[in-house]
Amino acid sequence: MAEATPLYQTYNRAPLRFERGEGVWLVTESGEHYLDFAAGVAVTSVGHGHPHVVGALKDQADKVWHLSNLYEVPGQEVLAKRLTDVTFADRVFFTNSGAEALECAIKTARRYHFAKGHPEKFHIITMEGAFHGRTIATIAAGGQEKYLEGFGPKAPGFDQVPFDDIEAVKAAITDATAAILVEPVQGEGGIRPIPVEMLRALRDLCDEHGLLLILDEVQCGVGRTGKLFAHEWAGITPDLMAVAKGIGGGFPLGACLATEEAAYGMKAGTHGSTYGGNPLAMAVGNAVLDVVLGDGFLDNVRDTALVFRQGLASLKDRYPDVIEEVRGEGLMLGIKAKVPNTELLMAMRDEHLLGVPAGDNVIRLLPPLTVTAEEARDGLARIEHAAERIRAKTAVAATA
Ligand SMILES: *Cc1c(COP(=O)(O)O)cnc(C)c1O
Repeated sequence: MAEATPLYQTYNRAPLRFERGEGVWLVTESGEHYLDFAAGVAVTSVGHGHPHVVGALKDQADKVWHLSNLYEVPGQEVLAKRLTDVTFADRVFFTNSGAEALECAIKTARRYHFAKGHPEKFHIITMEGAFHGRTIATIAAGGQEKYLEGFGPKAPGFDQVPFDDIEAVKAAITDATAAILVEPVQGEGGIRPIPVEMLRALRDLCDEHGLLLILDEVQCGVGRTGKLFAHEWAGITPDLMAVAKGIGGGFPLGACLATEEAAYGMKAGTHGSTYGGNPLAMAVGNAVLDVVLGDGFLDNVRDTALVFRQGLASLKDRYPDVIEEVRGEGLMLGIKAKVPNTELLMAMRDEHLLGVPAGDNVIRLLPPLTVTAEEARDGLARIEHAAERIRAKTAVAATA
């Protein structure tokens, strides 16, 4: 099959073919149900086939699909107004993906200093273990060799420092620094939350040096950590923020949010996107927000997260040979495995539970935010059975 496919061979796909989704479940072509705690990498925030979101997409599909940004798009005005009402931001630019939201944030930060008469300030400080996307600029921002190799010289202007090291950040600031870019909770890097004190210290440093603070909330935003955005836990606000994944609930949608000041340089003609903010995406984005901003929704995320987290902690105590550490925030949780994470992931898959591998030998558990406590317990039972499977295999290997 690998030889026969006309697709690029860029993905290591699991041999699973899903035909439909229902809430937290995915159903294969042959009718087998899998508990989906991967959620398309934190994307299906309100579960599969949420009736309100499906209805919004269908209604819009009957009206108009696409306009481009040659005209006013009312859905953009509505969604942007709602996003600015509930965040630090005054301005929004819509994109189709996370990487594009980051590209917009990076361009906005550089253009800000340019417009203020400092074109030399274009360097952005990022952190080790970061992931910001797969475009030429965002692989440079992420700084991971495995994503940079073979794609020509690394795009200039990204200075990387060790994770959670404020002294290293201070030392990296020069007259050419424009901004600091971080994920409040590293996702692909292995579910590593930046301590709230560190986020506050970064905010202070930016204020002190006239830098812009850019947060990448592509994965940790839109309710994932139990707050609408993860930085709210630290009580600080950024100047720019990239959002995607959960905001579209499965429809390709991203956004770059900015304060009025940070967006200062972005005049007509400086940036654009053919599809960005397309009416279908806006209909879905608004419908997802209806759900996530609904009464008690985030309280529910926090309550369910607590049940899940406590269950995982108990599993760690009972299976220290399989689980080394449990970490994360809200429903953005990671199991650092004692065995290779791929092995545990495979055992979970045998139990019909889906998760996502990450760096640092971690498995990400990112259920839809609509997951119930009962479904979380179902997931815990499957992880326990997976741990038992691994123990049984290890025991056989030891006696062989
Ligand atoms: C997924 C992700 C991106 C890239 O998003 P794409 O939609 O794949 O371009 C950027 N930053 C973070 C933190 C992500 O998790």
